[in-house]
Amino acid sequence: MGDRINTINGPIALDALGKTLMHEHLTIGLPGWESDTLADHRHRRDMVARCVDLIQELQDNGFNSLLDPCPNDIGRDVDLMGEVASRTGFNILFATGLYDELMGGSYWKIKAARDPDAENYIADMYIREIEKGIGDAGSKPAIIKVATGRGPFSHFETIAIQAAATAAVATGTPITTHTAGIDGDRQLQLLSGRGVPAHRIIIGHCCGSNDRQYHQDICRHGAYIGFDRFGLLQFNSDENRVANLSALMKSGYAPSVIISHDCTFNLRGPLVGRDDIPPVVRPMHFVREIAPRLRESGIEAPVIEALLTANPRRYFKGEEPPPPAIEPFASSQLSNGFTVPKSGLRE
Ligand SMILES: [Zn+2]
Repeated sequence: MGDRINTINGPIALDALGKTLMHEHLTIGLPGWESDTLADHRHRRDMVARCVDLIQELQDNGFNSLLDPCPNDIGRDVDLMGEVASRTGFNILFATGLYDELMGGSYWKIKAARDPDAENYIADMYIREIEKGIGDAGSKPAIIKVATGRGPFSHFETIAIQAAATAAVATGTPITTHTAGIDGDRQLQLLSGRGVPAHRIIIGHCCGSNDRQYHQDICRHGAYIGFDRFGLLQFNSDENRVANLSALMKSGYAPSVIISHDCTFNLRGPLVGRDDIPPVVRPMHFVREIAPRLRESGIEAPVIEALLTANPRRYFKGEEPPPPAIEPFASSQLSNGFTVPKSGLRE
């Protein structure tokens, strides 16, 4: 990619990324959403309007870009992204990828179980999207999404991760992950073992864990770390997230941190009860509520600003986060006993 990055409406200069949220969703529809005929599904023009409203609020506050890493099988909607990007002038980056065993598409789980060549098939799909694009406009993804849930990685999750590694190495595209707040170190090991450099990987949703050793391990091995669910209180409190993030930054790992909210602007169908979508956290939450608390904890404003600007840019540029001034650990092993090989660095 060099100094350019793919967006839904074509490549832009990396310098145009500006202030960026790295994990928000214009829409999500879990597989089967369209079969819920009782639900009062939001009309498309209302979905567009809601996205435009939230994005204009971001623009009014100096944001330029967001990454919507919705995987292919839970309602990724490139036409919606394209329309919203055209209306707002906002940079919308998107992913190719598949979701996890629990909530991913049954099509893929059945294919993974029955087709001995499923891993290569998935890799070929990712590569074709990256090289040829998808949708009417031939939009090309900026990133590959992988996902795992709780417990051991399933067969489907494992081959989808391995396919993502193949596509990442073949195309030089970076990877972002979904975790249940655990096992990001195992994702990192699997991807690194297949030749993906750690600094091309964001281990997502690490703010769901209060294990500070886990956070440090991921950073120490060179990956970017997602504190990307601010405001989603079903997974952790913001108090814990702020305390853990502040501690991580004070350990010297601020350049490794990726910030977002995992907002879903339009959820397809009510997942709880019969009412329409519950109110979502607005994507200004970090700036309005979290940044002041980080400052109270002793983090300076320019360091917080860099989380939203310098870090996404450095990640997409393919640069390693600078190591902390003081190396807090001597061991090269992850806390679970695995070692991440420094193999296959491809730039
Ligand atoms: Zn998400």
